[in-house]
Amino acid sequence: MKRQVKIMKPTPNEDKILHQEKEIFDLKQLLQISKSLNSVLQFDRLIEAILYVVMAQLKTFGAAIFTKKSFDDNLFVLNRDHHGFDISRDIQYSINVDHPLISFLDKSDSGHTPDEISRHIKIDKIVKDLFSLRPSFFVPLKAKNRMIGFLLLGEKIESSHEFTDYEKSIIENIASLAAIAINNSQLLEMTTTDIMTHLKLKHYFFTLLMERLDNINSSSFKKDALSILMLDIDFFKQVNDTYGHAAGDIVLEEVARVIKSCTRNADTAARYGGEEFVVMLNNTPSNAAMAIAERIRKLVEDKVILYNGQSIKVTISIGVSSYNFDLEPAKSIVERADKALYESKQNGRNRVTLSKNNLPKC
Ligand code: GH3
Ligand code: MG
Ligand code: MG
Repeated sequence: MKRQVKIMKPTPNEDKILHQEKEIFDLKQLLQISKSLNSVLQFDRLIEAILYVVMAQLKTFGAAIFTKKSFDDNLFVLNRDHHGFDISRDIQYSINVDHPLISFLDKSDSGHTPDEISRHIKIDKIVKDLFSLRPSFFVPLKAKNRMIGFLLLGEKIESSHEFTDYEKSIIENIASLAAIAINNSQLLEMTTTDIMTHLKLKHYFFTLLMERLDNINSSSFKKDALSILMLDIDFFKQVNDTYGHAAGDIVLEEVARVIKSCTRNADTAARYGGEEFVVMLNNTPSNAAMAIAERIRKLVEDKVILYNGQSIKVTISIGVSSYNFDLEPAKSIVERADKALYESKQNGRNRVTLSKNNLPKC
């Protein structure tokens, strides 16, 4: 005998419970998202984290973020990290903060579809370029009631329906968590960066170095190598005396640029003081650190810095130390690099010296 399967429709009461359970689940998710976004302080890594959260939670094939490069900028620019959009190299993808689209987005919290936008503002070339990415939704990113950027959602995985009001409220919550995290990260970036050289400040460098050493010491099986470079421009006072203080500033910027170009994102380069710099090289033993230091030294030596029609040349002295894995404090590793730098100076400048107190394995 054929058995009949009867599909039972949930009663209104059961429906209500199911809905409440979903809301609790979504709230827990939001709490998790908030925790994970607030634990990422580095801007690039934060953007990456937000994009993944957005795509997973809002079920879209793509996501992109527009933010200002600095607080006093007038442009929202597409972040180089984005997913699921066909980006044309010939288009800039940036929009002025005074543009009608920005004013329109600023009025809402949950965002708008391109259709809604088309009904409310004139579509000029800038908006057309954004629409050419075929986004499904534009979401303002607001922190402390100020628009700090916007989020572009790609095509929906289930394209059959538009975002429901409930989904829009989820978008709004995720966007506000993301905006606060971005704002905090930008504030941290600003307060820990030297304005002239765009390198990190000394105190922040030490914070990162101590965190790194804690990580190395706490990991029971993998002891990553870590090296420090201390760098000082040779006879820099003479540059100021000969070409003027403004020329000296340009030299500092150029040397900082060389140092940055020789380090990876995972490393940290900082301005230690006037014309002194310090670099933390992660996963780098002393032989590799010596090679990087030598590359920086050579690039600075070969560089011709033009200022007001004059060609300025400088050299740099460097000291290198590596972590000895014996719970050596951050201050001591940096002091050893500083001593090695002092030796470079004593032995004629424009050279790289390795700390004598490095253990053979480092
Ligand atoms: P040495 O090779 O021994 O390092 O000699 P030096 O001339 O580089 O060292 P000294 O410590 O005698 O002089 C450092 C100079 O750096 C003095 C100071 O005026 C200059 N200085 C420090 N900060 C800045 C800055 O922000 N801009 C400019 N233009 N000069 C700076
Ligand atoms: Mg000097
Ligand atoms: Mg000095």
